Amino acid sequence: MSLRRHALAALGLAFALGTAFAQGAPRPVAPLQVSPSAWFVQGDTALGSPANRNFISNAGFVVTPAGVVVIDALGSPQLARELLEEIARVTPLPVTHVVVTHYHADHVYGLQEFRRRGARILAHRGGLAYLGSPVAAARLEASRVELAPWIDAQTQLLEPDEWLDGPRELVLGGTRLLLRPVGPAHTPEDLVVFLPAERVLFAGDLVFRGRVPFVGQADSARWIAALDALLALEARVILPGHGSLSDAASADLRLTRDYLAYLRESMGAAARDMEPFDEAYARTDWSRFEHLPLFKVANRMNAYNTYLLMERQER
Ligand SMILES: [Zn+2]
Repeated sequence: MSLRRHALAALGLAFALGTAFAQGAPRPVAPLQVSPSAWFVQGDTALGSPANRNFISNAGFVVTPAGVVVIDALGSPQLARELLEEIARVTPLPVTHVVVTHYHADHVYGLQEFRRRGARILAHRGGLAYLGSPVAAARLEASRVELAPWIDAQTQLLEPDEWLDGPRELVLGGTRLLLRPVGPAHTPEDLVVFLPAERVLFAGDLVFRGRVPFVGQADSARWIAALDALLALEARVILPGHGSLSDAASADLRLTRDYLAYLRESMGAAARDMEPFDEAYARTDWSRFEHLPLFKVANRMNAYNTYLLMERQER
């Protein structure tokens, strides 16, 4: 099957799963094949809860002749065990590596299951500060209550076996994977994984599909630079950290990039002219983006954060 047919079939199945499991039963960890060697599992678009088992982020894996590389570890040890069972249905080979795209809880609480089976964990050194921080420890404590029984006293935050300081090529059984730091953008430690032979990109949380992203405290100039670097890869399929996969890869990348650039342009001009935020926000033409999902929830806060960022840069 062609890459495009794989992707379209996967989109259809993802849609069917999304509707079938919206009410009641938790979403299963169900891998979709997106290219000859790449697979993808998709979590709910929701906040973590006991009902969804913290299955609110995606993960992927690449099967090589010498073992399996997993990208992100899912949001609880139980989900990681289910992913391992699903991988065992695809190949008898072991998981040799897990690449962490960033150290947000919903992407890493499953790590211990992979380490227990001998996989080597790789992450970018930018995650070191967060991993050792009181914030990360407090988050885990809170999760043990809010996400019980899926997150419990046995759930741990794990350091990787290897902190990456720059780009890394991982060659396994002749399959080449490019691990590329692209942060600080969404987080200081953002890492993407690219399978050049099949032009599949595991993009972590840098790409938000067809919706307005949450900018938060991120430095949008660096985020834009990271998106430009991803566009240069000319991926055919993008697997984001949340939401469905994209076979309109460059259009999705451009949308996020153009939105961030427009925030900087409009709010930057206001900050430079010392125009109050409320006035600037009200007079800005948002028509290009206001039809997008989550615009109403996120845009004003994104604009305000960008206004403050541009104001600091003006000084
Ligand atoms: Zn995420």
